[in-house]
Amino acid sequence: MRKIIQKSILYTLLVCTIYSCQDDDDNITNPPDINSNEPIQTLIDLTIVEDDRVMVELHPPQLNTTETTYYLPSIIPGTYSLLNFGQFIDDFKAFDKLGKELKINKTSNNSWTISNADQLEKITYWVNDTFDTEKTHNVFSPAGSNILENQNYFLNLPNFIGYFSQMKETPYIIGIKHPQSFIETSSLHLTSNIPDFYESISSELIDVFQTENYFQVVDNPVVYTKGNSESFMINDLTVTLTVYSPHNTHTAKSLIPSLKAMMTAQKNFLGDFNTTKEYNVLVYLTTKQDDDAQGVGALEHNTSTTVVYPENSTFEALQNELINHFISHEFFHIITPLAIHSEEIHYFDYNFPNMSQHLWMYEGVTEYFSGFFRVNQNIFSLQKYIDTQIVNKMRYTNYYGFDTSLTSRSKNILNPQYQEQVYIFYSTATLVALCIDIQLREDSNGEEGLLDLMKKLAEKYGSEKPFKDDNLLSEITSLTSPNVGEILNQYIDGTTPHDYLKYLRKVGIDYQNTTIDSYYFFDSKYNSFNLRLNDQNEFFFTPKVPLNTGLINLGVQHNDILLQVNGEDFLTSNSYDILYNKSILWKTGDPVTLLIKRDGQEITLSGNIIDAKVQSDILSPLDLPTDDPRLILRNAWLKN
Ligand SMILES: [Zn+2]
Repeated sequence: MRKIIQKSILYTLLVCTIYSCQDDDDNITNPPDINSNEPIQTLIDLTIVEDDRVMVELHPPQLNTTETTYYLPSIIPGTYSLLNFGQFIDDFKAFDKLGKELKINKTSNNSWTISNADQLEKITYWVNDTFDTEKTHNVFSPAGSNILENQNYFLNLPNFIGYFSQMKETPYIIGIKHPQSFIETSSLHLTSNIPDFYESISSELIDVFQTENYFQVVDNPVVYTKGNSESFMINDLTVTLTVYSPHNTHTAKSLIPSLKAMMTAQKNFLGDFNTTKEYNVLVYLTTKQDDDAQGVGALEHNTSTTVVYPENSTFEALQNELINHFISHEFFHIITPLAIHSEEIHYFDYNFPNMSQHLWMYEGVTEYFSGFFRVNQNIFSLQKYIDTQIVNKMRYTNYYGFDTSLTSRSKNILNPQYQEQVYIFYSTATLVALCIDIQLREDSNGEEGLLDLMKKLAEKYGSEKPFKDDNLLSEITSLTSPNVGEILNQYIDGTTPHDYLKYLRKVGIDYQNTTIDSYYFFDSKYNSFNLRLNDQNEFFFTPKVPLNTGLINLGVQHNDILLQVNGEDFLTSNSYDILYNKSILWKTGDPVTLLIKRDGQEITLSGNIIDAKVQSDILSPLDLPTDDPRLILRNAWLKN
């Protein structure tokens, strides 16, 4: 059902890193930026909030040009649409050394040209935050910011700080003046070498950070809270969790055990793959009121992640969804993009983006690992892994189809048509990663899998050495086998319909007709939805799906038209609510009444809910003798 798919897509949408390259391909390996060792000094003053805005002051080094352009990003890594942070800037002014205003010209949504730039001493402007005005723009909450005076400061810095033309490689000093007793959490590095500019501010009220370039400004969000923050170590990795919960419903302390257990298992899965010593998880729990963040999800950065989630969620929902789903995915981005990324990310263009072809790897492989590590680390049984990570994604794959290759979709991800279907990189691409993993195991007698391939790529490239976008697929083929090359050519770069069963059968996973628990309108694995629409837009029980024992007990027959459920008309407009919000909560013994139409006659069927069962084709592991090659390959795939 389209509605369900759409709701589910919105709910599970993880917005993650994408890659862009510069307009001029020739410049990719030779970035044109002026490398100035003199930093750009900036001050964000959180202590004076006017109309929900804060002031930013920025001092560039001496410029040797008569005109310069200052940009706020239009797009940042991790988002699939144009955000236009320039729209949040008011009263942009430029001054010379005598305090006289210089002539400025707003040249686009996100840029200001400054005349007599060789005289430029400082620029100032007010910055609006994004959470409380989300109806007026499309900045996805985890990429946005919140300024709630004396309560919470959630700062994605590209909302506040921009860059000068040709100066993205210039270092930055970032001073953040904050109210007393607020504590920062960020992967930014504090500097002890504090420039004179900041000395007039009491050290209790300011944190002064240093970055090597503009990318590090964008890549390191900062959160100020009154201390709802906890840290732990896993070997040499320090993890900090900060939670903002407006009604103090949830605390970092209560969530830490689940986060630690999950990330410890992730580290065990990664083995000697070790790319960062610090990781910060910045959680904002939203009231979801009109003036608060609406976009539930996460945005990964290289050594931290920002997460927005509803505050009224249960503790179990935070464990299962926020930690085990969102954060586990984001953390595995330390493999790719952090350690394996295309050339373009080094020279990311925040205003004239071009996209890479390899979202299938950045997102698909990451999503694959974030499901697979659980069965590898014995958190999930193989059946639970199949039910939660494979079957669902196969459904999405059928929904999206194969008419456009994943590489082409990735390259054109800013095209609204593909942007809308971005979840394909978390479903279809994830299943292709599964096929590659199994094929690699088969080709190496079980010795090597996808994680080994990623380690090889990370050794060859790494965080400081990007690969060429056009060469990745042929390079993987030469590192692996023609069999893997065929998967890449057909499923990643081609439009061949994907045959996942071909690969699952290699490890003895196949469809088997089994009796399983059932809700009244679909089985407990959400496989056998038993209602279809007829030409009159009425729902009928399709003969294509076996009736469960609950319906048989009530007297339902195939082709009966369902008119009412417990006195409520059953229409396309409310079917989702009845099916997914009501019927799955029915308890054994509850009374139930269906009004159905059979051969033109309305019939009332009443009874009590029973523990229903149904025959269903379930994807599951076959019971195989220990010497069966499929079982041997399965064990190598799951545990090596
Ligand atoms: Zn991601």
